[in-house]
Amino acid sequence: MNGELYIVATPIGNLNDITIRALETLKNVDYIAAEDTRHTLKLLNYFDISKPLISYYKENEKTKSEVIIEKLEEGKNIALVSDAGTPGISDPGEEVIKKAIERNIKVIPIPGACAAINAIICSGFSTKEFEFIGFLSAKKSEKVKKLEELKYDLRTLIIYEAPHKLESTLNTMLEVLGDRNICIARELTKIHEEFIRGKISEILNSVEYRGECVILVEGAKISKSEQNIENLTKLSLDEHYKYYEEKGFSKKEIVKQIAKDRKLEKNEVYQYFLDK
Ligand code: SAM
Repeated sequence: MNGELYIVATPIGNLNDITIRALETLKNVDYIAAEDTRHTLKLLNYFDISKPLISYYKENEKTKSEVIIEKLEEGKNIALVSDAGTPGISDPGEEVIKKAIERNIKVIPIPGACAAINAIICSGFSTKEFEFIGFLSAKKSEKVKKLEELKYDLRTLIIYEAPHKLESTLNTMLEVLGDRNICIARELTKIHEEFIRGKISEILNSVEYRGECVILVEGAKISKSEQNIENLTKLSLDEHYKYYEEKGFSKKEIVKQIAKDRKLEKNEVYQYFLDK
């Protein structure tokens, strides 16, 4: 019979955040697959747990996931942990989880800390809908491209960033998104935990670039289509007409669309063009 794969969340700073179930799982499995075995060893020593470790990090995910699957197929139970928080969330995990599912191995989540979730709940921004981005590319051009895509996203954005890249990322965000409201959730669950809230420009001048952080960006005020309509309504009626004409709309469709964009009666728009 196959063993089971446990995806175990570990603390993101405060060791007291480990759950009782996580500790029980780590004690009961046959192996622990860890992102950085030295790091996990410290956690295990703290809780007096001794287990054989398998190193499983981003660069060896493909090969090591095969090793993990083999052991699971031999009936061994394995816990997967990352250096901090929930495995698979901007951390290794995806590969072995996919393979386990393909081979009908049971995958069991052991919930716990996740920086993204704890950052957004205290940001003060909408938690109804949000978009988790994780790390933006380190390449400026790709960072800009991604932010352009997100510019009109109405949802709260959650971005992970390393402290030494925070300033340049905030500058790029200011360039692309404009001076939006953001929140920097820093050193979550640790002694120097803080939430810095304000416009990007204000935060750029005041924030200290140290400590782990999550950037939360308040969702856009208007969607891309609303922005397009707003731009169209700044045109003259004739220019507005031409815009749809060039898109191949019929006269009837143009009048209908202009009336909709400008919140006018169709007859009014029709009359305007008739009079001309
Ligand atoms: N798997 C983790 C999770 O569940 O949140 C995330 C791992 S990712 C490699 C590390 C990033 O998470 C950091 O660069 C930072 O953006 C964020 N992070 C992790 N711990 C944090 C903390 N205590 N305070 C603020 N951000 C944290």
